[in-house]
Amino acid sequence: YQPLAEADPEVQQIIENETWRQFSGLELIASENLTSLATMEANGSILTNKYSEGLPGARYYGGNEYIDQLERLCQERALKAFDLDPKIWGVNVQPYSGSTANFATFTAILNPQDRIMGLGLPSGGHLTHGFYTAKKKISASSIYFQSFPYQVDLKTGIIDYEGLHKNADLFKPRLLITGGSAYPRDWDYARLAETAKSQGAYLMSDIAHISGLVAAKVQSNPFEYCDIVTTTTHKTLRGPRAGLIFYRKDKDAEMEGKINAAVFPACQGGPHNNTIAGIAVALKQAADPAFKEYATQIINNSRAMAEKLHEKGYKLQTDGSDNHLILWDLRPLALTGSKIEKICDLAHITLNKNAVPGDLSAMTPGGVRLGMGALTSRGMKESDMHKVAEFLIRVIDISLEIQSKVGKKLVDFLKAAESHEGIKQLHADVE
Ligand code: PLP
Repeated sequence: YQPLAEADPEVQQIIENETWRQFSGLELIASENLTSLATMEANGSILTNKYSEGLPGARYYGGNEYIDQLERLCQERALKAFDLDPKIWGVNVQPYSGSTANFATFTAILNPQDRIMGLGLPSGGHLTHGFYTAKKKISASSIYFQSFPYQVDLKTGIIDYEGLHKNADLFKPRLLITGGSAYPRDWDYARLAETAKSQGAYLMSDIAHISGLVAAKVQSNPFEYCDIVTTTTHKTLRGPRAGLIFYRKDKDAEMEGKINAAVFPACQGGPHNNTIAGIAVALKQAADPAFKEYATQIINNSRAMAEKLHEKGYKLQTDGSDNHLILWDLRPLALTGSKIEKICDLAHITLNKNAVPGDLSAMTPGGVRLGMGALTSRGMKESDMHKVAEFLIRVIDISLEIQSKVGKKLVDFLKAAESHEGIKQLHADVE
């Protein structure tokens, strides 16, 4: 046995650099978090060596007695973390990621070219919910299925539930998908269930972003209304990178078999047992009372950040946030998300450019997305969020000053930003 530092100092060095980057800067990417050391230990364990195609008790390989225990434990903890009755709900813990969890779900319950409706990408939806552009079908979910996205109301930024209901009546979807990656408000599942029921459609919720908040019961509960709930495990849930599919067993006796067969062998091969161990550890933590405190703090932090930016007169999508993320509309400032993302990188603040509803170009989106998960996991509270908001306000002020001097072209802007004294100072202050 040779430790990594001796076996491969190059990779070791990159890991050390990335560790330094994650902890010395401010991490505001809404889809990221800082998972626990215990989760990382499980995820980096010897379980990576084992093949175990199939399900507990029914594998295609020998030597799976401990892997069976592990997968069953993970399933039990997944149901417990979301307070689900095992007689009503089942869960598949094998999906490699959120995208594969979603595609396996479609494979299980749809036929090719069936109709689906998900929240449009410019409205804060996710690629895997049927995204396409005028020129091209981008996601496999729009290549293999007919997709007709619903949108938010451009004035309020809130989902246009009425428009969705009317369009569903025309389009007649087989599957209605809720959930998104840049939607800062809670969801009205009762209303969505009404629409799905009126069409005899399945209702699926992809709670990838908010699953930690749902587990802690600080967001509405999609399990009350949905047939299927999918999630990633690495965002607010704070586990390793993977996905889960929860399905109702009580309404359709065949659902369990359909979901399991869609994950393996239809979409995947052998489960990543090291990851399943990491998920199990994270789910144990999610059932602990401390997790509820963390999830509550995420929401308080998000509100504190939104209040500070709102107070300064900046435009936030929906004027605030109910969850872990804020979508900041930079268009009134004549700045783009790309510029702010780059300038924040220089100051060691990590966030991402994001389309805001009504954006004309996806290449130069008019907003940025801020997420509070990672900073909350570092123990930050409302007063820290006010400080981070002040850093972001300095970024805006510097950007406006640079833009007024060099004009709007991104190359000129970045060149001026690199040598700007204010940004150098900000970088030092952030660290
Ligand atoms: N679903 C939603 C709502 C997401 O936000 C994401 C990722 O950001 C995914 C699915 C895809 O997850 P993954 O990157 O694990 O494939």
